[in-house]
Amino acid sequence: MKTTAQRTAIVTGAARGIGAATALRLATDGNAVAVLDLDEASCAQTVSAITSAGGRAIAVGVDVSSPAGVDAAVKQVAAELGAPTILVNNAGIIRDNLLFKMPLEDWDAVMNVHLRGAFLMTKAVQAHMTSARYGRIINLSSTSAQGNRGQVNYSAAKAGVQGFTKTLAIELGRFGVTANAVAPGFIATEMTRATAARMKISFEDFLISAAAQIPVGRVGQPGDIAATISFLASEEAGYVSGQIIYVAGGPKD
Ligand code: NAP
Repeated sequence: MKTTAQRTAIVTGAARGIGAATALRLATDGNAVAVLDLDEASCAQTVSAITSAGGRAIAVGVDVSSPAGVDAAVKQVAAELGAPTILVNNAGIIRDNLLFKMPLEDWDAVMNVHLRGAFLMTKAVQAHMTSARYGRIINLSSTSAQGNRGQVNYSAAKAGVQGFTKTLAIELGRFGVTANAVAPGFIATEMTRATAARMKISFEDFLISAAAQIPVGRVGQPGDIAATISFLASEEAGYVSGQIIYVAGGPKD
């Protein structure tokens, strides 16, 4: 039997991949879900998967690095679904390159989506959470936070997400708000497909070589991350805060 009261959840970057799986999972858990992504039309598939299963969801097009866009999006969610008290900062991009070849634009682009985006979204949503004296913030970090060749921008951003998360936990705990980060290892999505293309190997070969390095002997799927987020977003996770949960099929190092 479900014990979760219906709450409103926001998932950014939820048109596909980990975000889409998370939006579906949070809806299955009994929450109304705002499906946010750069392009509203691209959210249609996630929204219809939720609504056709009897859930409540809306699509909202927003660039999470835009202050005006974020404020408008959060206002729209509150008006149409109710005050958001679950936030999953999932939107992300990669712009991989070795340091000496990395254009400043690629450094800035990655910082803007992962860090500025999470900051703006969290700042806009926390007002609803603190008023409700309840909130669950889940940020997407990565095993790359521990360093990864060719990802100086991404690893810095994902390490930054961890410090951001711990500080949110300290500041917002007294308002009934928890903040945690999930740090995935290799997950089969368009993001890792793009990495295979950049490395000029087939996605299938990339999956096989990745699985060989992972203790559980397989790559991760978006549902693996969604399941962990589902727990952290639940009422019963109220004593878990400021944690970084690695979901990577085994320890990285
Ligand atoms: P994905 O398939 O590339 O999906 C990311 C989504 O975020 C896309 O729909 C993308 O939209 C959207 N997005 C990008 N920039 C945005 C912006 N400024 N505002 C709003 N939405 C934006 O990625 P994923 O693999 O599911 O990854 C999801 C999260 O997990 C990311 O934070 C990623 O860094 C993290 N992660 C992934 C892995 C992995 O192995 N896949 C591992 C560790 C961590 P467009 O399609 O329009 O660009």
